[in-house]
Amino acid sequence: MTETAQAAVIHGPHDLRIQPFAVPATGAGQVRVRVRAGGICGSDLHYFHKGGFGTVRLREPMVLGHEVAGVVEELGAGVSGVAVGDTVAINPSLPCWDCRFCRLGVPNQCLHMRFYGSAMPFPHIQGAFREVLICDAAQAVPAAMPVERAAFAEPLSVCLHAARQAGNLMGARVLVTGAGPIGILCLMAARLAGAREVVATDLMDATLAVARTVGADRTHNTREAPDALARYAADKGHFDAAFECSGSGAALASAIPVVRPGGTIVQVGLGGAETAVPLNLIVAKEICLRGTFRFHAEFAHAVDILARGALDVAPLLTGIMPLAAATAAFELASDRGRAMKVLLTF
Ligand SMILES: [Zn+2]
Ligand SMILES: [Zn+2]
Repeated sequence: MTETAQAAVIHGPHDLRIQPFAVPATGAGQVRVRVRAGGICGSDLHYFHKGGFGTVRLREPMVLGHEVAGVVEELGAGVSGVAVGDTVAINPSLPCWDCRFCRLGVPNQCLHMRFYGSAMPFPHIQGAFREVLICDAAQAVPAAMPVERAAFAEPLSVCLHAARQAGNLMGARVLVTGAGPIGILCLMAARLAGAREVVATDLMDATLAVARTVGADRTHNTREAPDALARYAADKGHFDAAFECSGSGAALASAIPVVRPGGTIVQVGLGGAETAVPLNLIVAKEICLRGTFRFHAEFAHAVDILARGALDVAPLLTGIMPLAAATAAFELASDRGRAMKVLLTF
């Protein structure tokens, strides 16, 4: 008889079911992990509300989740470097190591990427919101800390990678537009990288309060004060770098006048929509507009940062809810006035 474990499976918009999912045997080079905590991400919410984002659409039921941590309970043949009983953060990214981009050293662009809870390929890559996960040993990174903190390793990795796209931030003045969990973690990553001044914008006071708690120098509610950034536009722009984390074209357009000549704007947020930007300003100010996609080497770095307590993610944690209440947890996580990061427990 096949062993099963409960999992959070999305069948379509607002149709999230807790149901048994097969647990395969632990193969050579793999570990079996008892999942303990899983953070609900913006991409999970896109599947939950709309069945996908942009051109990425659910075409079959899929286990959600890619921000998980747990405890190792079995080792496959030949596994070393991790032991039964270890708390581990799970790197949801599994590149092929053989395609053109893996060989170029950019495995986050792998042509055959297996990333948990992604409907980009078909069949979809099943996610990690399940009681038991069998993964490659290399994906299970020992994380000597509470699982609730270890579950932040994935979103922090995204933001460390984004910060890397911005180049040297030592002494930099940084703007973050969109102060959700990713915006907040970008803000913290920029600080860690040496930013001297960090300014955050959002449409909600609640998220801006968290931004100030974690160290934003100033925050602006651009719903209440749409021209709040105008003060930073003098002398061709105040900021050395900007992280656009909202996915809104209007936010990107607002950043361009306030980033100095030669500055960098990192587009982190995915809106899925085409947008108009003031191209002439990008040209005239020689602004570098960069994308950023997932991460790779940053995952182990994120675990290390969290283990050392080099930054404190506690202000981001809104609530912890059991897997059985996953639908309620997804609803809470969708309410930006009340929620930053919501974790499931298994
Ligand atoms: Zn995520
Ligand atoms: Zn590859």
